[in-house]
Amino acid sequence: MAGCCEIPGRGGRKKDVFSGCMLCGKALRYELIAVPRRCAVCGEEALSDAVCENGHFVCNACHAAGLDQFFIPSLLRSEEKDPLALLEQVMALPQVHMHGPEHHAIVPCVLLTAWHNNGGAGDLKTMLSAALSRGRQVPGGTCGYWGVCGAAAGAGIYMSVLTGSNPVNREAWPIPMELTSRCLKRLAEVGGPRCCKRTSRLCVAEAAAFTAERFAISMPLGKTACGYMSENRECIGVKCPFFPHGGKEREA
Ligand SMILES: [Zn+2]
Ligand SMILES: [Zn+2]
Repeated sequence: MAGCCEIPGRGGRKKDVFSGCMLCGKALRYELIAVPRRCAVCGEEALSDAVCENGHFVCNACHAAGLDQFFIPSLLRSEEKDPLALLEQVMALPQVHMHGPEHHAIVPCVLLTAWHNNGGAGDLKTMLSAALSRGRQVPGGTCGYWGVCGAAAGAGIYMSVLTGSNPVNREAWPIPMELTSRCLKRLAEVGGPRCCKRTSRLCVAEAAAFTAERFAISMPLGKTACGYMSENRECIGVKCPFFPHGGKEREA
């Protein structure tokens, strides 16, 4: 029987599975307290505050399964200089969900690729490995629960990899934090609720501006018109800078 759930989403997946629970498509319920839950895919136990209406919990690792294999090789081959264009290419891959912690690794990786393709120093493969390992440790839901959007953390990861920052690096330590704070300010100005596409694009644009100011590496940024509105239950419509008709698209 054909119903609304039969409409294919990106990559030919059922629409609800693209935007809701990875297993059954039901909406996720976000709870007040994180409790130990068993991942319905791998069986590992982890603390989680999100569970679907059918009781499924999918751990971070399973949500981003195979992340390193599916987009790192294409980034390494790419000569694209525009990080927003790279972001759209990666987000269009069938493994990337409407929302999900995979965005937290994708943001730094597309930024590092654009950095490299615009003449920035460093070994891209090594930098991408570092960004991937940091990005996949940032869980989902941090935007609502921690006040730190994972995409903004992803921009901070980009900057921590570039500057060699770590918790004891006196010189580099404030730089990623400054970028993350700028990203968060921008996200708060645009408003909520969550959208991993909108926040990723805004953080990438903010990081590109920051890179031009601090490192004199200028990344071209094209206009982006969103194609995910119908798949996002929480889309803010014309209030989103990337809403294609009536929205401002990407402002300068
Ligand atoms: Zn489910
Ligand atoms: Zn799992």
